Amino acid sequence: MKKFGFIGLGIMGNAMALNLLKAGFDVTVWNRNPDKCTELVNQGAHQGKSPKEVATHCDVTFTIVSDPAAAMAICNGPEGVAAGIGDGRCYIDMSTVDDATSQSIATTIIEAGGRFLEAPVSGTKKPAEDGTLIILAAGDKSVYDEALPAFEVMGKMSPYLGEVGQGAKMKLVLNMVMGGMLSIFSEGLSLGLKADLDGQQILDILDAGAMANPMFKVKGPMLLDENYTTSFPLKHMQKDMRLAVDLGDKLNLTLPTAAIANESFKQARKAGAGDEDIAAIYKIIK
Ligand code: NAP
Repeated sequence: MKKFGFIGLGIMGNAMALNLLKAGFDVTVWNRNPDKCTELVNQGAHQGKSPKEVATHCDVTFTIVSDPAAAMAICNGPEGVAAGIGDGRCYIDMSTVDDATSQSIATTIIEAGGRFLEAPVSGTKKPAEDGTLIILAAGDKSVYDEALPAFEVMGKMSPYLGEVGQGAKMKLVLNMVMGGMLSIFSEGLSLGLKADLDGQQILDILDAGAMANPMFKVKGPMLLDENYTTSFPLKHMQKDMRLAVDLGDKLNLTLPTAAIANESFKQARKAGAGDEDIAAIYKIIK
């Protein structure tokens, strides 16, 4: 049986690794704060001593951590994945990062004798738990083929998008749209409530028409209740908005709506809402 490694047991990684275990795969986990390994070890996972050890021991190692700096920290250094990978073993980084970071990790892994795929995911805590993520794979197709049995457990769809960078860019496009939608949704709800409309009626009427979508359905009641229980930390969405605006900058494309939404997310972060759910953008808008 293939041995899978899983590095980064935050909101997403914990649920994804648990699904691999439940499907009967041999899984070795590592997390910077080792306490987060306990639940998975109790469910039958092995615990690695370092990213290097996981990559040495496993045929395919997955990582999902916060941001570009964290993804680089997992890959590089004497205890990093690149120090342990070799003999064509596979490394799959599922963190949401920019294409340049992903390319840099790909180069390091290939130079160390490994094979690389990027595979950021669309979908939040619940789809991670349900195994219904959308996995945006790009890079070495042979790694994609080897990882498919794991992708089928973690996700409902795993399109192969081509060369390294294409998955990272697709993910940024998706989250830029999501952040923009959540921002204007918060403004619409705030405006309606200030204008003495009924909040639930606003949600019901939006949901009955052409603007109905699963995100408004989930986040709408959260905004009305001012419940910011974290599925997707706001600080990560702001990072994604920043990376999307940066990509537009590099491509000489103006993105005024995304740039303004990014400022709202920055303001929410500054107000201390970084670890709350993305819904907390409503706090600074209402
Ligand atoms: P999270 O709960 O905040 O977990 C972050 C993980 O990254 C933790 O395991 C953390 O380790 C690790 N980490 C951070 N900095 C590190 C460093 N310098 N070295 C080693 N490990 C480090 O985040 P999440 O929600 O699971 O998100 C993970 C990634 O998935 C992000 O790129 C995010 O944008 C993306 N994503 C999230 C969602 C979502 O809805 N949550 C959806 C799609 C994509 P510690 O536990 O030791 O702090």
